[in-house]
Amino acid sequence: MMNCQEIAEKVLALGADHAGVVHVNEIEFDPSFRMLCEQNSCGMYGKIWMCPPYVGEYQDLIREAQEYEEAIVYQIIGRLEDSYDFEGMMQAGKRMNCLTQTIRREMSMLSGYEMLFLGAGGCRVCPVCAHTEGKPCRYPEQALASLEAYCINVSKLAPLAGMKYMNGQDTVTYFGTILLKRSEDACQK
Ligand code: SF4
Repeated sequence: MMNCQEIAEKVLALGADHAGVVHVNEIEFDPSFRMLCEQNSCGMYGKIWMCPPYVGEYQDLIREAQEYEEAIVYQIIGRLEDSYDFEGMMQAGKRMNCLTQTIRREMSMLSGYEMLFLGAGGCRVCPVCAHTEGKPCRYPEQALASLEAYCINVSKLAPLAGMKYMNGQDTVTYFGTILLKRSEDACQK
């Protein structure tokens, strides 16, 4: 069975720029993030199944996350031509999305752990979420909630994992996290 450090190395090998391991009991959960979502500064509130309010009550999500033991935190850093390089930001977002789905696919083959995958911003699996058409989620096995929806303060999570929250002028940084706990099967072995 791979340990968390080996899983972090695997995440790096799959294309993350940095990856690190954090104990879940060190992570700061800040309920005020839900108020930020409600202010809808990203424009996604109420538009995506995996964003608030549909993703769930924050108290339940925090409780769910705290049931895990370790977090593999990873980031990618996108280089931009300048701070108005919207295309560059979109490309980096796409790269992050692909990486997260690849990680998810690879990790599903690992035995011995239960995992929860969290991403950056809202779920980006579909160009337009099925919610806008009043339909159920098209790919529930791929849909991804954000770290912020779980009230995780990423600016504090990053240094715990040995990485910077921001990486300098003309860059954009995206974070993803895998929460892990040993599965009951593995504990009985
Ligand atoms: S997988 Fe598609 S339909 Fe489901 S939450 Fe994500 S964007 Fe919406």
